[in-house]
Amino acid sequence: MPHHDLVIIGSGSGNSILDSRFDDWDVAIVEHGVFGGTCLNVGCIPTKMYVYASDVAETIRRASTYGVDASIDKVRWSDIRDRVFGRIDPISAGGLRYRDQENANVTVYQGHATFTGDRELSITPTAGGAGETVTADQVVIAAGSRPTVPPVIADSGVPFHTSDDVMRLPDLPRRLTIVGGGYIACEFAHVFSALGTEVTVVTRGPALLREQDELVSERFTRLAQDRWNVYLNAEPTAAEQRADGTIVLTCPEGSTIESDALLVATGRVPNGDRLDVGKTGLTLTDDGRVEVDEYQRTPVEGIFALGDVSSPYQLKHVANHESKVVQHNLLHPDAPRATSHRFVPSAVFTDPQVASVGRREQDLRADGTPYVSKVQAYGDVAFGWAMEDTTGFAKVLASPSGELLGAHLMGPQASSLIQLLVQAMVFGQSAPEVATAQYWIHPALPELIENALLGLPLSS
Ligand SMILES: Cc1cc2nc3c(=O)[nH]c(=O)nc-3n(C[C@H](O)[C@H](O)[C@H](O)COP(=O)(O)OP(=O)(O)OC[C@H]3O[C@@H](n4cnc5c(N)ncnc54)[C@H](O)[C@@H]3O)c2cc1C
Repeated sequence: MPHHDLVIIGSGSGNSILDSRFDDWDVAIVEHGVFGGTCLNVGCIPTKMYVYASDVAETIRRASTYGVDASIDKVRWSDIRDRVFGRIDPISAGGLRYRDQENANVTVYQGHATFTGDRELSITPTAGGAGETVTADQVVIAAGSRPTVPPVIADSGVPFHTSDDVMRLPDLPRRLTIVGGGYIACEFAHVFSALGTEVTVVTRGPALLREQDELVSERFTRLAQDRWNVYLNAEPTAAEQRADGTIVLTCPEGSTIESDALLVATGRVPNGDRLDVGKTGLTLTDDGRVEVDEYQRTPVEGIFALGDVSSPYQLKHVANHESKVVQHNLLHPDAPRATSHRFVPSAVFTDPQVASVGRREQDLRADGTPYVSKVQAYGDVAFGWAMEDTTGFAKVLASPSGELLGAHLMGPQASSLIQLLVQAMVFGQSAPEVATAQYWIHPALPELIENALLGLPLSS
């Protein structure tokens, strides 16, 4: 039975633990899917490459606002798709080759790992054939998460897609129904509708992007309703496919939605439930995560976990940070580093972009935290005029004395602008300090943030 110093389950963020400091370790990586994990193959990177193409299409469509008449002659879906995967697939293949063939101390097992004992794993090869059992001094569980599919669709026999395969469709569908109202649903709604698909979004909640600050969610939902067919409070009760291929979803009041393709984007569950973690003495949290402490250690000596399999955030920058912490703690067990989850920002690359950091207004209200807020419109700063923006805004929340508590943006470049506020919050700068102690380039878009901060009705 092979024994390794370290076994890493999952080649996403787990793969980035290894650098030259591990050259004298005997390491194994187990991967049952495509090498490189979600972000590279089916997540952040390909989606944003599609989003960019869709942003270009929308820019052309809106060009006449600025006196530039332009039109889209044609959308070459297969070229868009091949640009994305023509770049990504070789990176994944190269990553596998590098680890498997060029790292003498690393063994790559292409198979599914499950625990069979204390730091003992059974590996079932993806390509079939005899399995293998390995043991390790230490194990890192970096097994990620997977899309959930409601039984009403999963059991219906109707063909459906998830984020795992929708980007590889052979053709752009004429009509696409997206079930779900979170960030993945809203990013794909933008991607497909901007490229010419008629998009219908069906969500069981009363609004889209409900995990956001209430104002963002409310205003985004209104904009989405102008652009896509949006069904709120509408969990599908049945799904069927007609003989002509049309997919029909039935919603609660009996209304039916017809489309040519169906995308399910109803959330993701951690993969810990498919690892038989009980065999190594681990239990899962109520929401299915592998439990870790601030050092990313599980309750079992020598087993760490990181990323989506253990983190409630399910964000790549969080998984990367946790991977760095695990890397340090493997190398320096006597001086372990803790993970910091203070001020975790996030962005939704839909149209308009959404970004946030810190607390939401509904949370502050619920726990009785005193706060003041300012909502600054893009349309009231000079670059916003240049863009003719009428819907974007930055909302900042602060204590009455000026401590920044949260920021929520919706509008062009929100995912970049938010970083100004992330930095301020991480370094403990107050709203007046950030607004007044530096020059703000005029008339650049960050003046949106400057004006939002200056507009806070602080107590002194
Ligand atoms: C469509 C989409 C868009 C996204 N966009 C963003 C974004 O813009 N920004 C952002 O921050 N985050 C985004 N995310 C989330 C981000 O991709 C994840 O948070 C991140 O990739 C998680 O990394 P990880 O290392 O924990 O897991 P993964 O990268 O998923 O790696 C886990 C690996 O483990 C393998 N595995 C699982 N179980 C086993 C097993 N038992 N045996 C062997 N191998 C196993 C899997 O095949 C996988 O390769 C997006 C996700 C999706 C789906």
